Amino acid sequence: MKFARLTGYFEELEATSKRLEMFEILARLFNEASAKDIDKIIYLSQGQLLPPFKNIEMGMSEKLLIKALSDASQSPTKKVEEVFRKTGDLGETAEELLKNRGEGLSVGKAYDELTDIAHTGGTGSVEKKISLLSNLLRGTSSNEAKYIARFVLGRLRLGVGDPTVLEALALSKGDRGLRQELERAYNLCSDLGLVAKTLLEKNMEGVRKLRIQVGYPVRMALCERVPSSEEIIEKMGKTAVEAKYDGLRIQIHKDGNNVDMFSRNLERTTHMFPEITAAVKTHITAKKAILEGEALAYNETTGELFPFQITMQRKRKHGISELAKEYPLKFFAFELLYADNEDYTEKSYAERRAKLESLIKKNPVIEPAEMFITDNPKKINEYFDEAIERGLEGVVAKRLDAPYSAGARNFNWIKLKRSYRGELADTIDVCIVGYFRGRGARAKFGVGALLGAVYDEKTDSFKTVSKVGSGFTEDEFSELKKILDGIAIKHKHPRVDSVIEPDVWVEPRYVVTVTADEITRSPLHTAGKDREGIGYALRFPRAVGFIRTDKKPEDANSVKEIIEISNQQKKVKVG
Ligand code: ATP
Repeated sequence: MKFARLTGYFEELEATSKRLEMFEILARLFNEASAKDIDKIIYLSQGQLLPPFKNIEMGMSEKLLIKALSDASQSPTKKVEEVFRKTGDLGETAEELLKNRGEGLSVGKAYDELTDIAHTGGTGSVEKKISLLSNLLRGTSSNEAKYIARFVLGRLRLGVGDPTVLEALALSKGDRGLRQELERAYNLCSDLGLVAKTLLEKNMEGVRKLRIQVGYPVRMALCERVPSSEEIIEKMGKTAVEAKYDGLRIQIHKDGNNVDMFSRNLERTTHMFPEITAAVKTHITAKKAILEGEALAYNETTGELFPFQITMQRKRKHGISELAKEYPLKFFAFELLYADNEDYTEKSYAERRAKLESLIKKNPVIEPAEMFITDNPKKINEYFDEAIERGLEGVVAKRLDAPYSAGARNFNWIKLKRSYRGELADTIDVCIVGYFRGRGARAKFGVGALLGAVYDEKTDSFKTVSKVGSGFTEDEFSELKKILDGIAIKHKHPRVDSVIEPDVWVEPRYVVTVTADEITRSPLHTAGKDREGIGYALRFPRAVGFIRTDKKPEDANSVKEIIEISNQQKKVKVG
């Protein structure tokens, strides 16, 4: 496919504010794509070169792009900056400066050249990156240049989410019912490019044969919630009960001496956990394995667990080895997904757990998560209270006969967390879909409140649930302004459903965690809207922490969960 054809589709996607139209445009695009190009087309449409777990970054700044644009258009940087000031968007700047050039570029070539730019690093790489990019831009039409400029800055803003791609892929085959099987494959490899390529090359038979593989992260299983131990036993009968550790979830992939780790949102995090990597090499007895667990800072002398904030410090680029000495981590393994050519995701919890325990040689870093089996709610309550005292977050009950539900949140796992007086039993993760400039003292930061939405799985869209104006520091408000202006869009995003009009709409990309007093009904919000147009809203919402870098937009809480939590709050005895 010609790259200009692809950017023509990008134009269409950018112009629409209707979700169904978005599916239809993508389905047409996928239908037209060859098996050779389809993976690249999907990655590019999502503003990336490869799935996030490959951790490949363009490493391009506005400054470098301005230099490349100046080079390619043979105009002084001053001129480029002048146009940029006028348009406020380097994409439009590129469009204006690089008028009427050829349209000979293919998708494959554009993709390869962008990949070369991303791979250029080390000494002298800045000059090299600029010259590669200006070469690429020199041969493009204005429309192509616009999207290349936005792409290299990570500002494509088409907002093509993973579920949208799956839906459109199914639609492109004329059968929306295929979505489920496509999703199964995606849940096991987390690579939409691979799923689509397999579909085009080998049809659905090929997709059905896609299996779990070491090196491809599996989309993680998540918990449902209930308000009490009694309900856990009512729902599950005899069940396994594990400690809920408040640390960082890691999915570990071991292939001999090669160890890779992935975060909750499937980014590669291996560099953050040197001591766990070393322990996996020597103390996990399978040659090949995929296991999951929670990493947590702990006090070596007293054996006490440290709070989340201390574990969180591992999320940095430098100084990891010093940190590993100061705050060593323990890894509490709670799941086995694969071991020596056997897929464990389809086996029961009981089988997975037994095998997991048998694979861990006694060592100071890795140990199986605390677990006991019971059908007595009192036993759960006793353990729960003791767990909270020790600084754990609560418990997770796991159905003994259930498989590992990749990519799903269902009642195979149920969490029970502490509920505080006057607060919801759980925090809510909302996706930011717009912001309000704020009045009075707030106006000086440029952001006074965020419009937060929860995710509706059924329609793959975001429905508003809250205006969040407190909980951020002044610095955080200023930082939010910068970040959100980078993803601002001219109209409501097609995947957003809102009756409230914020001052600025943004692409649904960032998630923040909020706490609230309770969930109420409100005509102002679209989450869970009934026939009378009354939805659900958070009462007295306040942000806890800043943007959640470990969550994708679809990882925000769902409409379904908001309704569940609302129903549960009626039943919970507080105190
Ligand atoms: P939360 O903020 O409550 O962790 P979440 O949406 O990230 O919510 P949940 O599905 O609610 O995820 O809870 C599962 C998370 O709890 C896992 O992602 C993991 O990090 C953590 N966890 C801690 N201990 C366990 C355990 N024994 N089994 C499963 N998950 C656990």
